[in-house]
Amino acid sequence: MTSQRTRDRLVSRLREQGVENESVLNVMRDMPRHIFIDEALSHRAYEDTALPIGYNQTISQPYIVAKMTEYLLAGGPLQRVLEVGTGSGYQTAILARLVGQVYSVERIRPLQEKARQRLQLLKLRNVQLKHSDGGMGWPGKAPFDGILAACAPEQVPEELKQQLQIGGRLIIPVGGTQGQQLKLVIRDAENSYTTQVLEGVKFVPLLSGVIR
Ligand code: SAH
Repeated sequence: MTSQRTRDRLVSRLREQGVENESVLNVMRDMPRHIFIDEALSHRAYEDTALPIGYNQTISQPYIVAKMTEYLLAGGPLQRVLEVGTGSGYQTAILARLVGQVYSVERIRPLQEKARQRLQLLKLRNVQLKHSDGGMGWPGKAPFDGILAACAPEQVPEELKQQLQIGGRLIIPVGGTQGQQLKLVIRDAENSYTTQVLEGVKFVPLLSGVIR
């Protein structure tokens, strides 16, 4: 299940789907995805699919984790990255291996607590977690040179755009049950943003408020 061959196969699949960044592919190969999933499902950990993690949420599909990370890093190395929707902590862990510091917010406390234990187990110390509504971003830690959302709002939240540094990149799925698009928003100047539509995606919705 956790054999090198199984992980190599996953990475070959990611390459076939167009992921090219070698640092991203290496981190995807090394990351033990099975520890982010309940034992009953862990035999499926290296399939390229989203899986349930409880509370109606899912661990993201490896392809989309790799692709979003690649888009985020396409402008050069990043120091401060905000993640909205820690979930299992899998995407958080991938980011932690590739950027300076990760700030990750999650609205469901029990998911956040499990993620914290996993990140500790992996000895990833450049991560700070917060239990809050990430639609508001994390004002106290802004500005960020990258923001990645793992849940989909109907529209790009202004708060997130405003917490980008000039030149910063926001990767976010946008849309409702009718269909979502992955968008890349770049802050070109104080009051100027460019938006690019990247591909069709399917994420859980960004919901407001928190669950204890
Ligand atoms: N990348 C994560 C994906 C988790 S699913 C992984 O691989 O495990 C998306 C997560 O976003 C869920 O845990 C959900 O609770 C969280 N979420 C939804 N709306 C949110 C909000 N407003 N603030 C913070 N987290 C939110």
